Amino acid sequence: MSENRYALDNCIKCSICVSHCPVARVTDKFAGPKQNGPDLERFRLEDPAAVHPSIGYCTNCKNCDVVCPSGVAISAMNCRAKGAYVSLHGAPLRDKLLAGVDRMGRAARLAPWLVNRLTGWQPFRLLAEKTLGISSRMTMPRYAGKTFRQLYKPVHVRGSSRKVLYYPGCYVNYNNPRVGLALAAVLAHNNIRLEVADFDCCGLPLTANGLLAEARAKAAKNLARLLEYVDRGYQVITTCPSCYLTLGQEYSELFQLDSRPLQEKLTDAFVFLSQLKQQGELAVSFQELPLRFGYHQPCHLKAAGCGVPSQALLQLIPGLQVVDLDAGCCGLSGTYGFKKEKYPVSQAIGDNVKRAVQESGVEQVITECGMCQLQIRHLTGAMVYHPLQVLAEACVPGAWLTPELS
Ligand code: SF4
Ligand code: SF4
Repeated sequence: MSENRYALDNCIKCSICVSHCPVARVTDKFAGPKQNGPDLERFRLEDPAAVHPSIGYCTNCKNCDVVCPSGVAISAMNCRAKGAYVSLHGAPLRDKLLAGVDRMGRAARLAPWLVNRLTGWQPFRLLAEKTLGISSRMTMPRYAGKTFRQLYKPVHVRGSSRKVLYYPGCYVNYNNPRVGLALAAVLAHNNIRLEVADFDCCGLPLTANGLLAEARAKAAKNLARLLEYVDRGYQVITTCPSCYLTLGQEYSELFQLDSRPLQEKLTDAFVFLSQLKQQGELAVSFQELPLRFGYHQPCHLKAAGCGVPSQALLQLIPGLQVVDLDAGCCGLSGTYGFKKEKYPVSQAIGDNVKRAVQESGVEQVITECGMCQLQIRHLTGAMVYHPLQVLAEACVPGAWLTPELS
């Protein structure tokens, strides 16, 4: 990011960010993006203690960045403010636990069935709410019996020279490996072999909880590892919009790491497949799928600025109907909606999505973000999938449209 996106004088006080902030829309507990962002930044530059306590209510959804006519880096200012707040006051144990997504995933891998039983057992949930402040009302993500890395078996493909590395992110690796397997199957169908490697969490949950030093350490470690592959000619693919945004934007904007070589090689999975299609290298003889889905665009996909790359490809599948829900933020925002005091805010934000699902009459929803998948299922009871699962079902029919592996 050019430093002038942090320039306070760029803010013209139009308050467009305020009118598009999903949190400010549903609660007055949050002072708002302009107030917490450029208004207070000028004081924070003099004295880091000038952080409004309501900064914890920012979800880091980045809708303010998308609409700001002056290109002010509002959400990044808010992230730095959260970091300053945590440096001064510390972070609750609850936030450290929720933000340690890969640490939790590695622990759950030892006995995922036991973790799933416990996190679905109401007395345990009430205890977690009372002692830690984790909402007993929010559905907890279930862990898969085996991780994506355990399940993925590279297949032999005929003579493609493309080198493609997959960054699965924590949710695919620990909770929903089927998304990564669907990507591998679609690419294998197109004679492209997927390389996988061991990475840390991208760091976004830590950033969103103000744990910036830990997030930066993960960023530096991941970047070094990813650049080894980039130097060897690999393209890096993600299926999670939040991982994509973090690797491609936050590593440089928030942590001032030189990630330019990575940015040049980083691609969202559907952008990559769309490029193959444009080059005439995508197999487009799809099976008929007489199914109807609602589509929810994750905030971070919108913020990444790559539009809705899945839609053009899904339109090629005979019989498939996709209804754009067009209802804005789902409200979960990673770890946010799991916090006892944030749960009502998260659900109030998600009401628009819930209404859109009900009014469209769809029984199944597709969306690229694992946390949006969880929230929409929680809000509506609908089955929710990644669009890659639908594409895989049309390319290499199997059991792709099941919510999770056990
Ligand atoms: S949208 Fe941008 S320019 Fe307008 S008030 Fe918000 S930060 Fe300032
Ligand atoms: S990142 Fe989202 S919640 Fe935070 S100020 Fe911007 S619009 Fe509001």
